[in-house]
Amino acid sequence: MKRLITIIVPAYNEEEALPSIIKRLGKMAQKEKKYNFEFLFINDGSSDKTIDILKKLSGQDKRISYISFARNFGKEIGVAAGLQHAQGDAVVIMDADGQEPPELIPEMISWWEKGYDDIYARRLQKNDSAIRKMTSGLYYRTVQKMTRVKIQIDTGDFRLFSRRTVDAINQCQEVSRQNKAIFSWVGFKKKEITYKQPPREVGQTKWKFGIMSPGNSLFNLAIDGFTSFSILPLRYISILGVVTNFAAFIYAIIRLVMLLTGTPYNPLDLGFIILLFLMSWQMIAIGIMGEYVGRTFNEVKHRPLYLIDEIHQNKPSEDKADKPGKEAE
Ligand code: UDP
Ligand code: MG
Repeated sequence: MKRLITIIVPAYNEEEALPSIIKRLGKMAQKEKKYNFEFLFINDGSSDKTIDILKKLSGQDKRISYISFARNFGKEIGVAAGLQHAQGDAVVIMDADGQEPPELIPEMISWWEKGYDDIYARRLQKNDSAIRKMTSGLYYRTVQKMTRVKIQIDTGDFRLFSRRTVDAINQCQEVSRQNKAIFSWVGFKKKEITYKQPPREVGQTKWKFGIMSPGNSLFNLAIDGFTSFSILPLRYISILGVVTNFAAFIYAIIRLVMLLTGTPYNPLDLGFIILLFLMSWQMIAIGIMGEYVGRTFNEVKHRPLYLIDEIHQNKPSEDKADKPGKEAE
């Protein structure tokens, strides 16, 4: 039986882009005759004709299916829904706008056949604005410093997952999610391939820097990334508290020595020292609270404790023969 490959395509107001991407997917599928394909579109509360196009095309082509959201939930959630509904033995995530070329999928499939679980495509050249390139570069470097999980640089969501990886990701049930954080966290056998990113074929980027558009704000995505990779920011507060406390201590000693060596007493100094101490204790207290908040946060994510790559364990019945003392029985 042919194996099934699902292509997930999140689409938000992509009426102009859909016909071309579907055509390209069809061409790709024609070349890959060894597999069956499922093209799973996620209509993320589009206000244009995206859903009408999907309805029409899914009637003509049984490979095309779609999930249509009640409103705009954002790409991260769209991808999550896609992963939960994908039926394939392997699952590819791809943008609708042609910036992530479907022609790369056969290469991904070939690596999957060689046993890799997460074949991700790294962009060699990005078509983002200079400011977006700069902020995202700085951002990922900072996040990488804060976590032991290895983050893939210049990599979007364009990738192929094996079935077991998809199952693992589906176990991550957090609501404020950043796919990249989860994809990196999962681990398994990763393989990098590269491509040159073309500009968007039609339409405009759906991302905005502002915080007011909940689904597609880069700012919100960045915060979600920070907080879902680690709880380190919370811990920094206690470190700052300890440092301030130490500074207050040193300052108090310096002042005392100065007082003993003849500098006249200044009541402001005493006030300043007390203030510093109180502030540092406050920061430490907030930091301790942060530790508990952080733990609660990690617990409510309900992530699996671990994911197993391979396991070798003999069944008790099989190794009975090797047990010492069997002759005595
Ligand atoms: N997208 C989505 N929901 C949103 C925003 C974007 O499903 O709220 C989809 C969009 O249709 C596209 C993909 O996510 O298929 C990437 O979006 P876009 O190309 O605008 O982002 P960029 O390439 O600029 O990062
Ligand atoms: Mg794009």
